[in-house]
Amino acid sequence: MSEGGGGGRKPAPAALTDAPSRPRRYTCGAVDRLALFDIDCTLIDTHGAGGRAIMRAMTETYGRWGPLEDYSYHGRTDPQIVRDLVLKAGVSEEEVEAGLDDCLDLYVRLLRGEVRDGSVEVLPGVRELLAALDADRRVMVGLLTGNLIGGAGVKLGPTGLVGFFNVGAYGSDSSHRPDLVEVAVRRAGELVGRRFAGKEVAVIGDTPADVTCGAALGAKAIAVATGIHDRDELAAHGPDYLFDDLSDWRGVYAAILA
Ligand SMILES: [Mg+2]
Repeated sequence: MSEGGGGGRKPAPAALTDAPSRPRRYTCGAVDRLALFDIDCTLIDTHGAGGRAIMRAMTETYGRWGPLEDYSYHGRTDPQIVRDLVLKAGVSEEEVEAGLDDCLDLYVRLLRGEVRDGSVEVLPGVRELLAALDADRRVMVGLLTGNLIGGAGVKLGPTGLVGFFNVGAYGSDSSHRPDLVEVAVRRAGELVGRRFAGKEVAVIGDTPADVTCGAALGAKAIAVATGIHDRDELAAHGPDYLFDDLSDWRGVYAAILA
């Protein structure tokens, strides 16, 4: 990946990569936008790898889970998925909590096997959008995802996208997605020395949970209909902007800066 913007490579969260990185020099006052991206069905499609790995991990840890019925993984954090599906099988809350860390560790190990080179698809416009944002010193780019930080690293590892992200909030920080916005805003603020507020913060994602999670902080919601939710479903939750996908990356870029 080439150096962008003359400012040096932004540091990725340590657990996402072992690659050496040179911290970008942020100047208070220069950076006034924080763009927070969901991972699954927003940046990439893992073609079911996450679902397969989490089902195997629940089976090996608890022996039972589900029924899946109409349960959707989309928009949920990894710990929330395990809790929901194992409780559904009648496992007690105490048992669920006792096995949770082991189950999630196993999930990340199994995910590594499920995500083979070439099986992770980067969605249209993503590389162009991230490269443009990377070169723009007004914008800090981060992840806001229900993935555990380890799982995020496994999924993004083969894509070459990891170096674009300077900050992140993960399912390992909280199982409750709305909490993650505050986590990301706080971490970004610590890097820059200012607090991002209101519409300076953009949350970009493919589910109603992405659209609504930043509401308490007045964040800008940019919905993208690349997951299971179509435009009408996403529109019903009142995003500030709505796109079919990120192939109109110039439009999304302008929405982040607006
Ligand atoms: Mg998603």
